[in-house]
Amino acid sequence: MGEQFRDTYRQKGMRKRLVKELRKKGIRDERILDAIWNLPRHYFLDIAFDEWAYKDQAFRIDCEQTISQPYTVAKQTEWLEIEEGDKVLEVGTGSGYQACVLHLLGAEVHSIERIEQLYLQSKKRLEVLGYEEIKIYHGDGYEGLPNEAPFDKIIITAAPPEVPSKLLQQLKIGGIMIVPVGANSDQKMYKITRTGSKNYRREVLGAYRFVPMKKGTN
Ligand code: SAH
Repeated sequence: MGEQFRDTYRQKGMRKRLVKELRKKGIRDERILDAIWNLPRHYFLDIAFDEWAYKDQAFRIDCEQTISQPYTVAKQTEWLEIEEGDKVLEVGTGSGYQACVLHLLGAEVHSIERIEQLYLQSKKRLEVLGYEEIKIYHGDGYEGLPNEAPFDKIIITAAPPEVPSKLLQQLKIGGIMIVPVGANSDQKMYKITRTGSKNYRREVLGAYRFVPMKKGTN
């Protein structure tokens, strides 16, 4: 892994262009653009795919999963309206990239991954990068983290067929959940705001494409 953690001028240059592209595509929050600029995305891919790290595209990681497209990471983060100190639950650690972006915005991040191999890889990666404050867990995101709840914000980076009810219960009143819901061909991003102990407001934010959120662990 050591060799991978080198950030060359060329990679910095490509990353600068990516940030510019995201700004052009409508990302306005400078804190998010700064986080993307400060976080070498190539650290989260296999070294062989170095060239691809700064294209605005999703990319295959191990276990047939994907690291989300940078635009999608930025957009989901923007919709979460992160404030410093927010306690955030992420479902679907994957490579750990999104978790790092949230951490760089000052959130207290708790992230769950159902595939043990990815969990172990990302845990190691975050430690080596010095992000051991990010807490990651091997478990089923449908259960959330009852011992850590409630959360100010919840971000789901895999698509469940419907909004997981246990996660709704783990959201603070006034909290926000961003979740892509539905099957591959017909997925919609929802923003859910908990407006009272039994009340939620749901907004539809557009069509996206995520890997499915699966039950249980692996
Ligand atoms: N946020 C990631 C990309 C996520 S890809 C990143 O920044 O790289 C979606 C991930 O969700 C996959 O790793 C998949 O294994 C995981 N996943 C799917 N269902 C899950 C569940 N029920 N609980 C936890 N993780 C889940």
